[in-house]
Amino acid sequence: MQDNNLDLPFWEGFSIWNFDRRSDGIWISLVPTVGSIARCSNCARACSQIHGRYWRTVREMTMVGEPVWLQVHLRRVRCPDCGTCAEHIDWLERHARVTRRLAQFVGLWCEKLPVAHVCEMTGLHWETVRRIERAKLATQLAALPIAEPVRLVMDEFALFKGHRYATVVLDADTRQVLWVGEGRSREAVRPFFEWLGVERCRQIEAVAMDMNSAFDLEVQQHCPRARVVYDLFHVIAKYGREVIDRVRVDEANQLKHDKPARQKVKRGRWLLLRNPENVPEDQQPKLEELLAANQALMTTYVMKASLKELWQPRTAWQWRRSWKSWLRMAAQGTLEPLQRFARRLHPYWRGILARLRWPMHTGQLEGINNRIKVMKRMAYGYRDSEFFFLKIKAAFPGNP
Ligand SMILES: [Zn+2]
Repeated sequence: MQDNNLDLPFWEGFSIWNFDRRSDGIWISLVPTVGSIARCSNCARACSQIHGRYWRTVREMTMVGEPVWLQVHLRRVRCPDCGTCAEHIDWLERHARVTRRLAQFVGLWCEKLPVAHVCEMTGLHWETVRRIERAKLATQLAALPIAEPVRLVMDEFALFKGHRYATVVLDADTRQVLWVGEGRSREAVRPFFEWLGVERCRQIEAVAMDMNSAFDLEVQQHCPRARVVYDLFHVIAKYGREVIDRVRVDEANQLKHDKPARQKVKRGRWLLLRNPENVPEDQQPKLEELLAANQALMTTYVMKASLKELWQPRTAWQWRRSWKSWLRMAAQGTLEPLQRFARRLHPYWRGILARLRWPMHTGQLEGINNRIKVMKRMAYGYRDSEFFFLKIKAAFPGNP
């Protein structure tokens, strides 16, 4: 066993001293190959003076299905430039508890599999896998160029079980996730602007967000040049909940005497909330029948279509005309939910018109939110959200 000059293709600079099979796995002792020169871990300089030696136990990749433990005999060198330092080893990071090869393996599989599977594959403890992944993510993020955002998209997403929320800030131009933080209040997003700093905040020209979020005031406070742009996606979702759903329920209630008609209205939800271009051809007659038989639903439907058009203004003048006419139509009708919605929408007109100059695409966020959902499932058990946020940031490094 003790052939100190056996040159292995791995554990470079070291030779096997002892090999032992125990109940908890395979134990391999490694000592520096005779004649190998120790190098300073700080400056990589070859050092002839050895200050001392010590043993360190680290994990290696599983062999023939068994965990492998390496006991490595390491040298401490006396570097003329750096003083007393640990020796440099190609295959083992300083302070790491696993070899670089195993860390790379774990890092690679953590991108594709849930953590529990990676633990099973490697026999590593949950905490160890997480530590490895965290180090990898931190290295990836540190290598990114400094972001210089001009347009931002801010949105919230539900965190674990939907009781808590988190906010994500995206660079609209590079699609880089710049920041993720817990909460959705003004105070919760303040650390983002503090992180961005006064200079970069001054560069921000537009910020797209949900009309109902608390972000607009915070944006105005930190970014003096920024225009707030309200998101069509959120407004339409709100319209669906507060107008279409409401009117549909009211209408169904009025049709108590007419069971078939009532059923049609009740079941029409899906048809009504869909974009007309997404309603399959065979369902089209159903939708038309539903609308024709019901004046109130027809109105909410037409009003939804023209509300959407307000997000595609051609000129400010044309927008103003459509906006006024939309508000007038909503106010003059007899539908209470529609009137209420219009009253609430009114004060937000600047952020709707802002789209004329800042045509921000909300689709960007939908895609990212979907991927966050998948990551949430994969990261099942990541109890600390800070780690989850690190994962999100690393998954969206942007394309500068
Ligand atoms: Zn040195």
